[in-house]
Amino acid sequence: MIFKGSQDKNQQDNNSEPLELVINATGVGIWDWQVQTGELTFNERWAEIIGYSVNELQPIQFDTWSTNLHPDDLIKAKNLLAQHFKEELELYQVEARMMHKSGHYVWVQASGKVVERDDVGNPIRMIGTHLDITERKNNEERMIVASQLLNESQQVGKLGGWKLDLKTGDLFWTDETYRIHDTSPEEFNPTVDAGVGYFLPESKDIISTALDKAVNNGIGYDLELETYTTKGKKIDIRTTCTVTLEAGIPIRLAGIFQDISEQKANQRKLEKSNLDLADANTALKLSAHYDQLTGLPNRNLLADRIEQAVTKSTRNEKFVAIAFIDLDGFKEVNDSHGHDVGDELLKKVANQLKHALREGDTLSRFGGDEFVAVIDDLSDPSECNEVLSRMLESVSVTLRVNKKLLKITASIGVTFYPLDNASPDQLLRHADQAMYIAKQKGKNRSYTFDIEKDEAVKHRNVELKRIAQALKDDEFLLYYQPKVDLRTNELVGVEALIRWNHPERGILAPALFLPAVEHDLLDIEIGRWVIKTALQQSHHWQLLGANIPISVNISPLHLQHAAFVSDLKEMIDQYPDFKAESLDFEILESSALKDIELVSSVMNACSQLGVSFSIDDFGTGYSSLTYLKRLPAKYLKIDQSFIKDMLMDTDDKAIIQGIIELAKVFNLKVIAEGVETPQHGALLLSLGSYIAQGYGIAKPMPASDILIWLVKWKQSPCLVDGRI
Ligand code: C2E
Ligand code: CA
Ligand code: CA
Repeated sequence: MIFKGSQDKNQQDNNSEPLELVINATGVGIWDWQVQTGELTFNERWAEIIGYSVNELQPIQFDTWSTNLHPDDLIKAKNLLAQHFKEELELYQVEARMMHKSGHYVWVQASGKVVERDDVGNPIRMIGTHLDITERKNNEERMIVASQLLNESQQVGKLGGWKLDLKTGDLFWTDETYRIHDTSPEEFNPTVDAGVGYFLPESKDIISTALDKAVNNGIGYDLELETYTTKGKKIDIRTTCTVTLEAGIPIRLAGIFQDISEQKANQRKLEKSNLDLADANTALKLSAHYDQLTGLPNRNLLADRIEQAVTKSTRNEKFVAIAFIDLDGFKEVNDSHGHDVGDELLKKVANQLKHALREGDTLSRFGGDEFVAVIDDLSDPSECNEVLSRMLESVSVTLRVNKKLLKITASIGVTFYPLDNASPDQLLRHADQAMYIAKQKGKNRSYTFDIEKDEAVKHRNVELKRIAQALKDDEFLLYYQPKVDLRTNELVGVEALIRWNHPERGILAPALFLPAVEHDLLDIEIGRWVIKTALQQSHHWQLLGANIPISVNISPLHLQHAAFVSDLKEMIDQYPDFKAESLDFEILESSALKDIELVSSVMNACSQLGVSFSIDDFGTGYSSLTYLKRLPAKYLKIDQSFIKDMLMDTDDKAIIQGIIELAKVFNLKVIAEGVETPQHGALLLSLGSYIAQGYGIAKPMPASDILIWLVKWKQSPCLVDGRI
């Protein structure tokens, strides 16, 4: 309903009320203009758009509009009006700014049409609408800024786009796509044929086929290919395509076009470095981990699981049960019913046993009719009784196999770590021994390994006690072996190597006593002693004015112990002058890979305390590159075995080269260990590896000898033949 500004609602015609409601609901301002008298009429909304009520805009006439218009837009509007009056324009339409009551401009889209003319064609009456388009205008503004931003970010990411209209054949490239092709819209007119023509032959075949499929079958693609730019430079690109269909027919293709040369170059470098390691990795992958018949983990995987369970139990101070299960009378079933029935029975039994275990426990097929269960996380060995009874029961139910009803039983031998403080291999042997006793005692039962009766275990326990006593009596000491930079002959640091000063046997190398403690909590106690002693030594050298970084070997068990980081922090806190970088931990490649989540989080926490990491004996494990990437290490120590033989063995030399390349990609420093002669040093330098450790530089020595050695080394820093 249009009404004169002065009109009031009471005077309105009742019939037009519904129309007014509709108009108000649309939010459209309506105006009615007597062109010749200048009289202007409009609705509430018209006024509301510019912040007024109708009454506030009295008197209402043409000026009410023109004075509120932005001067720039007034000229534009008047021109358009004039054209419409002369009937050059069918409709008068303008986007213009009008002054709002509160002083800012709002954007209004005005449209109108002359509805009455006099005899000579001059306009008498014109009506039209006002629409508030401020928001749309602001959005457009934002879009312009956003698309500029997008363009910039595409440049940074070298990410272009393309679009092909299949109806017209028009190909559109974004600015970045031109840049990637080393050209510009002025210089180059993109067509599909021209674009495809720049690809290298192999890539050309691939992209042609892919495009064909996109155009004809509506199938998109995501490819990494090689192409030349318009200037002939070879680049790696990623190109994708999404197809838009209309009534099932492709009408448009669009996608991204990205320069990935840099990523590809890095990837190639990695691939090259990884070649040697890849062989080892494949071998690992190929060796099946699962038993074909039952789908259960096989022996290989079992060894791993026991190892993990043992490590975890040491960490959480819980028990692990290793249960060796052997079926009673299986041979008879096999003999009288045949292998097929035997196999089926084994499958059924495996299934039964699995259900008797708790979730998270491991059941493995050890071979024939033997199974091994690893039951961990036990607060007490007695907690396992229930599981053992369930396993016995689950096997002894009557099973239906190939229409035959069969009933067998099982005998189980079990041993508990760490009550049975043995290696994973020995644990299995002990469980097996206990299983035999269960058979002797009448089958269909379980028997627990008797630690007290076992000679080997007794011997081991005596050995462990002696080592524990040695720790108490302070019989251990640390030797130190220098690491030097072969280019500058600078001392980079020393590696702490433990020795046992045995009262009767003299100085003992770690190989003579560390293996005995490998799976025992004593291993962690020794580890703590080593860190503490190294920190003391570092402090002592510092007081003498020598800053010598010390590397400490950390055992896998110790590294994964729950209190490792808090213990370390406590020890470091004893030395307020402790300098970051003065302590480095050497961890074995194999231990780093055991529980990558845990190990990398421990490593990160230690890094926070200022301790760096070296991956020791590198090249002997099965490092996957993705793993390596996740470990915050600073150094890679190439395993001695490669260095020792590098002068004769070209394979070893190639592996060393590979590791050096790999280290570069991951930003790691390489340390060569086992540098025994000047020839080793020279070859390493030529390969670009310059931090070295070995008998050719110096043998491990007591702490008190290090400073004396250092003075001599500085006077004449030359490698000797350390093999003599
Ligand atoms: P590793 O960490 O690989 O230490 C290097 C071993 O190579 C040392 O043997 C060192 O004396 C020896 N070595 C260094 N340069 C040469 C060389 O040019 N030629 C030859 N043939 N050997 C060289 P060591 O001291 O007998 O230590 C043996 C292993 O015992 C160490 O291997 C390390 O795994 C372990 N170990 C030593 N001390 C500790 C310790 O405090 N804690 C732990 N957890 N393990 C330790
Ligand atoms: Ca080491
Ligand atoms: Ca080593």
